[in-house]
Formats: sequence, structure tokens, C-alpha cells
Amino acid sequence: MHMEKEFAENMPKLGFGLMRLPRIDENTIDVEQTKVMVDRFLAAGMKYFDTAYVYPGSEDAIREALVKRYPRESYYLATKLNSRVANTAEEAKAQFEESLRRTEAQYFDFYLLHAIGESTLPKYDEFKIWDFVKQLKAEGKIKHYGFSFHHTPEVLERLLTEHPDVEFVQLQINYADWEDPKVNSGILYDICRRHNKPIVVMEPVKGGTLANPPATVRKILNEANPDVSLASWAIRYVASKEGILVVLSGMSNVEQMEDNLSFMKEFKPLSEEEAKTIERCQKVFRSTDQIPCTACHYCTPGCPMQINIPEIFAAMNQNLVFGEPEKAKEMYAEVLGAGSGRASDCIGCLQCEGACPQKIEITSWLGKIAEYMGE
Ligand code: SF4
Ligand code: SF4
Repeated sequence: MHMEKEFAENMPKLGFGLMRLPRIDENTIDVEQTKVMVDRFLAAGMKYFDTAYVYPGSEDAIREALVKRYPRESYYLATKLNSRVANTAEEAKAQFEESLRRTEAQYFDFYLLHAIGESTLPKYDEFKIWDFVKQLKAEGKIKHYGFSFHHTPEVLERLLTEHPDVEFVQLQINYADWEDPKVNSGILYDICRRHNKPIVVMEPVKGGTLANPPATVRKILNEANPDVSLASWAIRYVASKEGILVVLSGMSNVEQMEDNLSFMKEFKPLSEEEAKTIERCQKVFRSTDQIPCTACHYCTPGCPMQINIPEIFAAMNQNLVFGEPEKAKEMYAEVLGAGSGRASDCIGCLQCEGACPQKIEITSWLGKIAEYMGE
């Protein structure tokens, strides 16, 4: 059965993204807090949980907070295989068994080729992962397969033509990136619709940016409705589109979850008036020069200079987006104080740029930041 029909009635639109779970410290997920969030999420009628082999500690945490505590058929669990961290086909395929072992989930409802981009796609092809996921499905170890995508419209068109049995696509869609020439949310969405593929949305709040947007955007939204959260606009914007299977929100605490549930439990699409308000915000974003980092941290593990790239970008964005130079310098000093290499330590090895799904010219930005910070 086509997935859209299968889930038309029984897929609540909010998904729990497990990439930014609450933490006790940098390396330890707060499992007790995660349990509280899982309980609230399921009690509100939601079902979809999204983890990945490469989210540190996430698959183990969801075993404890969800799999061991609820009947398997009461939720959907998605995870992902990532060719970026595999050197051979065997290593890539072994990720599946490892994900099963960590989660103890018995099977996955949704299984994805993770973060298809310039550096990962050749390895998915070379390692024959397309055939591998088909085989997993035939064996009943996964129910549905798809991929998450950070590449060009041309490549998406080609992949959906070459692999017509792919069942869904996960795309980065949010109102700020809809017309962004690097992300191309709108064009990618149209391609999936043409190929009749349901869409799972990631980064609806753009790594938190749209929960804390530039002052001009905040003003537009607050004036339109002072009683709702800024994140609610972003999530409802994407959930209102046709063909969306589920919108993943990477919730980090109970408060964020309560807010998301407050408007997604009984979801109402944006009204015409509200859609116009978002169009005004999109205009503001088109005119703002910021670093489009979503803080996914894919770039950091391989940096030989231990540069905390996303935190440094967040500091610089404080100036670019919010016009707060003093705060930007203060944040930069804090990142360095916590052990990060300096922007000027970058040796230009380009490891990070190959790993960045947002195709950010990281080395060029680090150069500009080093200059701005007076290094
Ligand atoms: S190019 Fe610079 S920031 Fe990127 S991984 Fe290499 S040293 Fe680190
Ligand atoms: S620079 Fe790119 S890879 Fe690194 S955290 Fe930001 S978006 Fe992710």
C-alpha cells in the first residue's frame, strides 16, 4: 500500500526528533527527563520517534525511555544508516544490527539512508545500500525505507527516478529556507510531490533559529498573535503543506514539548492571514546575511584543531542576525573558554566542509570571524 494512504488517518503530524535530547553533561543524555518527555508525547496521541546511528547516545536512550517501557506496536521508530562514518560496505551494513542491538526495537518502522549529500552519496552507491535496505524490508526487519536529503534538486530528481521504490523522503523545510538558493526547500518539496513521495520534515525551526528569530521577525509574529510561541509559527507553517507525513521537532526539554503539543495535538493549518504573516517574515530573512548553521555538529568530530564550529557560528550570528557585537564577542570568549580551538587555528583541511549538509563555506566564515574577533 502507498505510504500516504497507509498513514493518512493514523499518523499524528508531530514527530519527536531525538538529536537534541536533554543532557546531564556534554556526553550524557538525561534518560529520566527523556522518559518524562516520551510519556507526555505518547499520552498526547503522538507516535513518531526519529533517531540515527550517528546521534551520540540517542539510540541507547530511546531503548530505556521508550522501547523497554511501551508495547512495540504503540509507536513508530525511525533510525538511519550513515555512509559518512563507514569505510567499507560491511561497516555500513553492520550499522543496522548495531542500531537494533542498541534500541532492542526488533524492527524499525522507518529506515533511512542518512544525509545524502556530495560526500555521502557515492558511498551509498558503492556500498550498494539501496539493495541492502530493500533486502531488509523483504526480511521484515524494516517496514519502510527512504532517505534524508541535503543535495541539489537535480540529484533528487535523478535518485527518485533511479529508485522509484523509495517510499518517503526527509527534507529540511522551514519558512526561512523555502527559497534559500543553497537549501532549496521549495524546489525539493515540489520534486517529491511530483514523484508522489510523502515527506518527513526536519529542521522546521532551523536548528532553533526560528524559535529565537531576528528582532524584526519577532516583531511581525508577536504583533500578529502575542499569545502563541514563535516556534509554533514555524512548525505549523510546514505541517500545513500537502503531503507531509510528519514534522520532526528536536525537543530538548519538557517545556518545548508542552509548547509543541499545545498546537499540534489538535493541529490547525495556517489561515490565509497567518500565511501572509509568514510571507512577510520570509522577506526579512531574504535580506539578512547570516551563517545558516543548524548546529547539527556533523563537522566537529573530525576537526584536527578541535574548533567548535557551530558554537563559533552561533556567536557570530549574534552579531549578524541580532546586531549585538558585544554579546557576539562574549559568546566567542565563552566557546574558547570551554576548550574550543580559535577561528584562526583553522588549517584549511576542509574535512568540515565535506561533512556539512548546509554546504556552508566554513573555512571562509572562520577567516572572516577570526578577523572580526581581532585574531
Ligand atoms: S578546515 Fe579548519 S575548521 Fe574545518 S576541520 Fe579543518 S581545521 Fe577544522
Ligand atoms: S557548520 Fe554545517 S555541519 Fe557544522 S554544525 Fe553547522 S550546519 Fe552542521
